Amino acid sequence: MQRINHFKSIFTILLTLGIVLVQGCSEQPVNVDENDEIVMPEVEVSEAVTSKLLAKRAENAKAAAVDNDMETRDITAAPTTLTDQEKSLAAWVDDNQQPILDQLKDWVEINTGTDNIEGIDRFRTILMNELTQLGFSTEVIDVEPIDVLNCDGSQMKFASHLLATKGSGAGKRLFLNGHMDTVFSADDDFQKLEILSNGVLKGPGVIDMKGGLVVMINALRALDAQGALDNTNLTVFLNSDEEIGSLSSRPMIEKLAANHDIGLVFEGTRDNRMTRLRKGLGQARMKVTGRESHAGTAHEHGVSANLEMAYKIIELEKLTDYDKKITVNTGVVTGGEKRNTVSGCSDTYIDMRYPTAELGAYLDEGLRKIAEKRYTENAEYPEFPKTEYWSKLHRPAKAGNEIVDQLIAEAMGISAIVGEPVAGANTSGGGTDGSIAQAAGLPTVDTLGVNGSGAHSSREETTVASVIARTKLAAIMIGRVLGEGG
Ligand SMILES: [Zn+2]
Repeated sequence: MQRINHFKSIFTILLTLGIVLVQGCSEQPVNVDENDEIVMPEVEVSEAVTSKLLAKRAENAKAAAVDNDMETRDITAAPTTLTDQEKSLAAWVDDNQQPILDQLKDWVEINTGTDNIEGIDRFRTILMNELTQLGFSTEVIDVEPIDVLNCDGSQMKFASHLLATKGSGAGKRLFLNGHMDTVFSADDDFQKLEILSNGVLKGPGVIDMKGGLVVMINALRALDAQGALDNTNLTVFLNSDEEIGSLSSRPMIEKLAANHDIGLVFEGTRDNRMTRLRKGLGQARMKVTGRESHAGTAHEHGVSANLEMAYKIIELEKLTDYDKKITVNTGVVTGGEKRNTVSGCSDTYIDMRYPTAELGAYLDEGLRKIAEKRYTENAEYPEFPKTEYWSKLHRPAKAGNEIVDQLIAEAMGISAIVGEPVAGANTSGGGTDGSIAQAAGLPTVDTLGVNGSGAHSSREETTVASVIARTKLAAIMIGRVLGEGG
């Protein structure tokens, strides 16, 4: 995603909202006192729709929190012991602790913001070499840029994805998935991996998901060192656009999901819990075209795109309903170019979250109706304001799955032995590509990466202990799935 400085535009919108809220007062007659001075009427802000909205949300949030707890079926560890072969996988990881951490540092410090095509190209080449050494055939998947509905008419460009395949053995067909991109652009201040004396590793993408990729690759290396990857069916797919919703890689993930038996995704965890249920995610863009005009000499000949957008934003945000577990967030808004010009264009980039496909469709329909409805008009220029709408329900909701629950129970059992025990399961409002794979029919555990906190922020951190323990866990889990037979 390109990073845009929106402050100016957001102020414009806020100002416009202010105008909307006090408009009831504008029709009051002008009063003049005994000295012929104009007496300003008392500004009486009509009961703001937003304050009601926020109060209702606060109320509903409590109820929703209780409901979420009821939905969370916690999982208990499956009792297990390690075979000699599995003990030697763990020993391999211990012996390689330093190179594993060095690799993590190298990978974190290659910037792979989704918009950094060159950075992702460099990183993909490194990953390709790793996988080639492990006996995979690799393929670079190029994708076309897509047009984006916004005021500056820019395109969204994607770096190529990486597909690696191995084997035609008789065992289970295992799909390993991760993403190379992070949310941190090349111009972000957060670029280095800091290793603190208490074993904390702080860096951009260290959980999401450079740490997970280190876990995955080194788990495969540990297995390969034992010859455990021979005659197995493995596919590794690493995409470059996960952080913007896998807009170009989704069809690949769906196609691959259909040809495998189990999916493992190396996203990170919080509170050492693995995720069983996830909300669905959608994204939408709205672009309002108005009519520019001089704000001083020809204000009445303008049709403000910002004003129309301000009304729309209030309606959009009203669709949030914590009872239904649906949220709409107008996360990015831009509009107008000059203070003294009625704005000719405004755009917004919107996030939607929903627990079921039906509610996803309901939100999408609600947004479309708001796009189609005109909240402002200028009889002289009936063609304005004009609104265009684009949306994509890009990640399906992830429902509970018996095989996934069993694998989480198994991971809990193994991690109790190898360290950093997984504490149970949780439900997440965030989505991963595991949701796409599972909706396409592939049971997918999507939190086999490292544990930590602060993902997507400059506080992102994990620990040395987690990287090492999760590498052992992944090696043993992959080994068990591959060994189960087809
Ligand atoms: Zn991620």
